[in-house]
Amino acid sequence: MINATPVPILSDNYVWVLSAFGSANAVVVDPGDAGPVLDFLEQSNQECSAVLLTHHHADHVGGAAEIGQIWKCPVYGPIDESIPAVTHPVGENDAVAGSRLTFKVLSVPGHTRGHIAFVGHGHLLCGDTLFAGACGRIFEGTPQQMYDSLSRLAALDPKTLVCCAHEYTVANLEFALQVEPGNAQLVDRLVSACSTRSTGQPTLPSSLKDELATNPFLRCHQPEIVEAASTHSGRQLEPGVEVFTEVRRWKDQG
Ligand SMILES: [Zn+2]
Repeated sequence: MINATPVPILSDNYVWVLSAFGSANAVVVDPGDAGPVLDFLEQSNQECSAVLLTHHHADHVGGAAEIGQIWKCPVYGPIDESIPAVTHPVGENDAVAGSRLTFKVLSVPGHTRGHIAFVGHGHLLCGDTLFAGACGRIFEGTPQQMYDSLSRLAALDPKTLVCCAHEYTVANLEFALQVEPGNAQLVDRLVSACSTRSTGQPTLPSSLKDELATNPFLRCHQPEIVEAASTHSGRQLEPGVEVFTEVRRWKDQG
């Protein structure tokens, strides 16, 4: 078992700080800003054993070099992206280790060309690929790549806890309800997320099981979503990547 804490930074990012129960050594994921993470480590009496980076965007890597230098620890990042702070480039199937924690690397291109995710100890660190209730924008890859990447994540153990890098949940679920208004579990999830946010708490981590039940980007074969996407596009779409592409386009317009 591990502790996983989302440390809020910038406007709506989370830096995940992970440690084995009883251990003072932490792994830090996507530190876009060093200050709040260093403060958290100090307040919780933890040391940083490794920094993990999912992709090159500044709000995910901005504080990585400083944290790596202060703690003299490895900075793991995607082998197919150029990130100056990275000391250990990694790709598909590599293992990354910090303290007593080990994570496997999955290649999940789409948001960026070389985006990677880390999975281990029942947790998925997915950067800007999978969000609670949605997925990341497709900046550098193709819709087919993003669809394939999400399908890989969807095939993990449903009990996996999903550690997303942004607090977008309420807006995502509001959009999801436009796409699938008949999903009662989705309605419940939105009510619950609004209540959580009203007290200032993070809605994350979510569980893959909840994503499979309510995230339209993982449900592109559901008849109601196929129908809604087809109506939105003005032509009958095939379940799967065609529906995914239209739902992504629909959300981008919103
Ligand atoms: Zn990003």
